[in-house]
Amino acid sequence: MSIIIQKFGGTSVADSKKILAAARKAIRAQKEGHQVVMVVSAMGKNTDKLIALAKEIHDDPPSREMDMLLSTGEQVSVALMAMAIQSLGHKAVSMTGAQIGIKTDNSFMKARIQSISTERIRQALNSGNIVIAAGFQGVDDDFNITTLGRGGSDTTAVALAAVLNAESCEIYTDVDGVYTADPRVVPDARRVKQISYDEMLEMASLGAGVMHSRSIEFAKNFDVPVHVRASYSDEPGTMIVSEPESHERAVCGAAIAKDEVRISVQGVPDRPGAANRIFQPIANRRIAMDMIVQNVGSEGKAEISFTISSAELSATLKALEEAKQTASDAFESFSYDDHLSKVSIVGLGMERQVGVAEKMFQTLADKGINIQMISTSEIKVSVLVSQDQATDALRAVHAAFGLDKAPADAQPTAKFVHISDEEKVRMINRIERMEDLLIESIQLDETQASVTLFDLPQTPGLAAGIFQRVTDAGFVVDMIVQSSGDQKTNLTFTIIRENAPAALELAQHIAEEFRCTPPVACPDVAKISLSGTGMRSHTTVASRILKTLAEGGVNIDMINTSEMRFNIVVEAQDGAKALQLLSDELHDMVVN
Ligand code: ADP
Ligand code: ASP
Ligand code: MG
Repeated sequence: MSIIIQKFGGTSVADSKKILAAARKAIRAQKEGHQVVMVVSAMGKNTDKLIALAKEIHDDPPSREMDMLLSTGEQVSVALMAMAIQSLGHKAVSMTGAQIGIKTDNSFMKARIQSISTERIRQALNSGNIVIAAGFQGVDDDFNITTLGRGGSDTTAVALAAVLNAESCEIYTDVDGVYTADPRVVPDARRVKQISYDEMLEMASLGAGVMHSRSIEFAKNFDVPVHVRASYSDEPGTMIVSEPESHERAVCGAAIAKDEVRISVQGVPDRPGAANRIFQPIANRRIAMDMIVQNVGSEGKAEISFTISSAELSATLKALEEAKQTASDAFESFSYDDHLSKVSIVGLGMERQVGVAEKMFQTLADKGINIQMISTSEIKVSVLVSQDQATDALRAVHAAFGLDKAPADAQPTAKFVHISDEEKVRMINRIERMEDLLIESIQLDETQASVTLFDLPQTPGLAAGIFQRVTDAGFVVDMIVQSSGDQKTNLTFTIIRENAPAALELAQHIAEEFRCTPPVACPDVAKISLSGTGMRSHTTVASRILKTLAEGGVNIDMINTSEMRFNIVVEAQDGAKALQLLSDELHDMVVN
């Protein structure tokens, strides 16, 4: 008999009426001939309330106890849901993560699933029950209760769909599908009928909170079709599948991460391993860094900037203090700005179209919005702007790319395509632990050069003006990184090597106009790209890469990350060596 997973988020089980409504949906699916597993979140804002309560008692609540506390939210919901189903005359049994056998690692508050036993669920289903599984929680090897990170019930649902080879995984929520941007922030946002795993993963990781990004890693790795839909209606919503909505359109959506912090570390020795000494203690705490930018500074010292979410600020500051204590010459000082937001555009078609980043910069320039940091990759462009301009920035960018209008070649909604049980077992066996990272390839690109402009003034329209001129001159830009200190901005971009002399000449003109330090070109750089799924959220990737290159004596010039790629630019002479070092170090994660 086919299995259906139905996940209900907090708002959708906020009161007894809603719990009963959800129960009826599950009963209906069972009557239609399916076995049904429900995954439920804590009621309403219960998790937030529990966190606030903990903070009243302890400034920095110990994470093990936090998980003990937070898991109770879901425990309340599953019990009530089982009662609701029984009150309607049907059989139901509730289970906590531990009772199901959801094994995780021991990183409290952001635990990763290692394995799920299906035996108990199957037994309960086969006896005619609707199984109600607590979302967001598991248990480690020492029987400690763990939680998967905020929004983690989606991950429980998709992971259960994967191991049970469910026919579909329905995510019932307070919005009727995935939109081109958060509909609460962008009133013109359009619901999409279908979105690809890669685009959804990137959108989620860049702030589209409708799905927990790790749930999409599961969906992609185990080929689980996900249907995001409203709990308050029966209308179909959005299918998350392998194919994008449109092949023509460069940008499929825009996202905002409202509370971002930029950390700048000054006076870092410009030599191999220096960045690693800073990043290792951060990565050890499993803090995901984004928009990592390293600038060559004066007197052989570099400045490293990166962003983190504000929830990670205190842990990151502790990590930096630890780095300084371990090696007093690791850096000179650090500062942070926590009034920033990250606005991003995402799209699989971006790689094939030129001018996407420039258009975003120009749109923001026209609005007088200053860009404080830029990081691009094959599937997204992210900029950091001040928090009070972020909503305007998102709306402007959404309009500029015409995201409110459906693309002409929009796909008809995808049908579920099911892979066989044998294939699924093969896939599950391939990764020893379910949520382990899969790296698909490690590639070396030796065709590029880089140009860096220093000490530019921080004004709205700066990046737009410069990249307009670079594009007008006919140069196709690959990576762009921009980082700003208190007053000044440095900007680095990569281009095809043969264009390096002409691009440098153009950069010299620009520098003269701004009366700033002469630009520098590296006529040959090597770019190493690691492709996979969840490259950013698996913080161990960054730490292993940086450590390996540091120990191998390779200096890193530029880094940019997305969930699909981790790109590193090094000097050309180090390219082959870096490729070899990384291939050796990461071979256990590489598939095929
Ligand atoms: P649940 O409690 O059901 O898990 P969440 O609050 O986690 O619900 O996710 C739903 C919310 O996600 C919506 O109310 C919406 O404001 C927000 N959201 C952010 N980005 C998007 C997007 N691109 N499409 C749809 N909703 C989005
Ligand atoms: N209750 C948890 C949270 O609020 C998990 C979830 O809702 O997905 O983060
Ligand atoms: Mg959610």
